[in-house]
Amino acid sequence: MSSIATQLLHSIPADPLTGAISVPIYQTSTFVQEAPGVNKGYDYARSGNPTRAALETLAATLEKGTAGAAFASGLAAIDAVIKLLESGDEILAVDDIYGGAFRMFTHVYQKFGIRVRYVDTSIIENVLNAITSKTKLIWLETPTNPTLKISDIEAIAGIAKSNKCLLCVDNTFASPALQHPLTLGADIVVHSATKYLGGHSDLIAGLVITREKELGEKIKFIQNASGAILSPFDSWLVIRGIETLHLRVKQHCANAQAVAEYLQTHPAVGKVYYPGLKDHFNHIVAAKQANGFGSVVSFTLKEDTVAAANAFVTSTAYFKLAESLGGVKSLLCHPAQMTHKSIPETIRKVSGVADSLIRLSVGLEDVDDLIDDLKNAFAVIESHANKKRPEAVAV
Ligand SMILES: *Cc1c(COP(=O)(O)O)cnc(C)c1O
Repeated sequence: MSSIATQLLHSIPADPLTGAISVPIYQTSTFVQEAPGVNKGYDYARSGNPTRAALETLAATLEKGTAGAAFASGLAAIDAVIKLLESGDEILAVDDIYGGAFRMFTHVYQKFGIRVRYVDTSIIENVLNAITSKTKLIWLETPTNPTLKISDIEAIAGIAKSNKCLLCVDNTFASPALQHPLTLGADIVVHSATKYLGGHSDLIAGLVITREKELGEKIKFIQNASGAILSPFDSWLVIRGIETLHLRVKQHCANAQAVAEYLQTHPAVGKVYYPGLKDHFNHIVAAKQANGFGSVVSFTLKEDTVAAANAFVTSTAYFKLAESLGGVKSLLCHPAQMTHKSIPETIRKVSGVADSLIRLSVGLEDVDDLIDDLKNAFAVIESHANKKRPEAVAV
């Protein structure tokens, strides 16, 4: 049996019509029928498109599920999963949740009678204590954004099963190169394919993959009924990204580990968050359920202020100041003012997103250059701090 990387590259056959080795982009809205209802498997491109279908099959293979559905964004994918619920149902969600999911749950779905409880799911007892008979969906991200908390997928899948509720894992931060939640008992995986799967910061896309066929059919129904489908061109781009996923993620992880270890040694750094560090709260769980620790590294500054973080994030050259992650070029962001600004300050701080917390998405540049870039930024904030001190001005 060939390796996963080989199988993946060859799981999409060459185009049967022309032999094209790259999946053709079927840029069409409709498909000619021989007679009403007699067609070649496609009738209207919201319901199905061959380029999107190739991506959906590939995504199911990649996540070891039975069905995939591609959406116009990660949030559209999340939206499709929430639409499985009914008024009166409850979601039990990880507290350190992606800001956009929090905004959707609170400002879109609450008014339809869907309630969400947030708990720190990295501690199993919290999940057991918060679950009720109304809980119909457990929502995990592991690692979380941006404090890289790790939750035990297999243990929580067991709790979900005995409570007859669904477990959905947003697997964006690990990517299927590292972690397969469906094989650990989850029912649904969602992705922002905008991140590692696309991998080049050149598209917005989302995926839903299910373990069971029946659930997959429900998602497909919602995809067609609500209409937030991924375009043929963007489907093609995600396929192309996935072809190098395993190779990219391997290097992302190696670079991130080196950056995290460097940060731990720097005197201006407060806390470093990276599941690959031995002192990470759930390092052992992370090592058990994933083949690597990803490329997002967060850290706080000893001077825990927005001003200090601002000075740092505007002083790097290779780490570009931008939201998003998982692309070939390194990025950094300041969650309190960027990705997490829609989360109320008190909730934000309880979940560990301090004023000075900086999130790095470690890219594929040479790691020595990346570490030099961070060194320079530390030197800049150090000289700022010295200038501010009155005694320093006196001498
Ligand atoms: C980016 C992201 C999303 C949202 O995806 P979009 O493609 O931006 O809509 C959801 N979950 C996580 C963990 C993300 O990082």
